[in-house]
Amino acid sequence: MLRALRMSVPTTAPEAAGELARLGENAKIYAGGAELVLLLRRGLIDADHLVNIKHIPSLDSISWEGGIMRIGATVTHHRLETEALVRAHLPMFVQAESQVANIRVRNQGTIGGNLCFNDPHSDPGVALLVYEAGVLVVGRNGQRQMRLQDFLTGMYETALEPDELLVEIQVPPLPAGWGGAYLRVHRLQRPTLGVAAGAKMQDGRLEDVRLALGCVGPTPKRLEELEAKIRGAKLDEAERIIGESKTYLTQSLQPVGDILGSADYKLHISCVLLGRALEQAANGGVKAE
Ligand SMILES: Cc1cc2nc3c(=O)[nH]c(=O)nc-3n(C[C@H](O)[C@H](O)[C@H](O)COP(=O)(O)OP(=O)(O)OC[C@H]3O[C@@H](n4cnc5c(N)ncnc54)[C@H](O)[C@@H]3O)c2cc1C
Repeated sequence: MLRALRMSVPTTAPEAAGELARLGENAKIYAGGAELVLLLRRGLIDADHLVNIKHIPSLDSISWEGGIMRIGATVTHHRLETEALVRAHLPMFVQAESQVANIRVRNQGTIGGNLCFNDPHSDPGVALLVYEAGVLVVGRNGQRQMRLQDFLTGMYETALEPDELLVEIQVPPLPAGWGGAYLRVHRLQRPTLGVAAGAKMQDGRLEDVRLALGCVGPTPKRLEELEAKIRGAKLDEAERIIGESKTYLTQSLQPVGDILGSADYKLHISCVLLGRALEQAANGGVKAE
């Protein structure tokens, strides 16, 4: 049962950070509540006080400025999959967002809540790593800018300090001439495995490529060494190299077996899905609308 909680309703991000600093570890940020309420109800986390950030207007905005999509932390998954601006500039991200759970969760859950919770079985972070997204966080002493790659530090862990909240995700589109694809497999609602690929072909070879993988290890990861091995290769050569990359994936991802599959199964499917996503990306990828 959910016990009575106090709630602050700040209207600016610095005010919310001030509340976190004032109230200490028994205060939690409340966004969509999709994860938080479940955890509180089951007694998996403890809190006396919620800091509700849904009334901070700047956190609910999406804008396209200087060639970068700026997405406020409380924007819901459903808004991201339907917003024309996002569909036009970030089609592969939309492909990932539209596969999150079901319409109820996508209506309730926010992108900020998803990234801050950093459940290993998540979709958006994997796609955002291929876009080389950045994040802006605000704390009582000001704001910090960092790469998403550095923000997602481990299973259910991020680089946030106790008095900080995530306010914005900044996403540059894939460079001109690139294609992107996000693929996942799932048995239940959350992904068993998710992969994202971005690629540009030139004269039948992979001129440049980015790959990311989620759900295999504790947190989503860019596969930079594998990218370096296939850069310049023909597509069939690249797919063969990916198929032979289990040792590299094991060393770099620390695969974890869980209720959704053994570590071996996940490694096998990773190679299959990475090859398929790369092929789709290299052939133009998911189209913008
Ligand atoms: C049944 C179910 C199925 C799901 N399936 C999928 C799936 O297929 N793919 C997928 O990717 N995800 C899935 N999810 C996860 C879902 O995407 C997240 O639950 C949701 O996005 C969390 O957002 P929220 O706003 O509800 O976060 P909340 O529940 O409000 O918060 C989650 C955590 O993040 C913290 N937090 C929230 N916002 C901020 C912020 N701006 N700054 C600092 N801390 C913050 C909170 O304090 C809390 O610890 C599923 C969830 C459920 C319940």
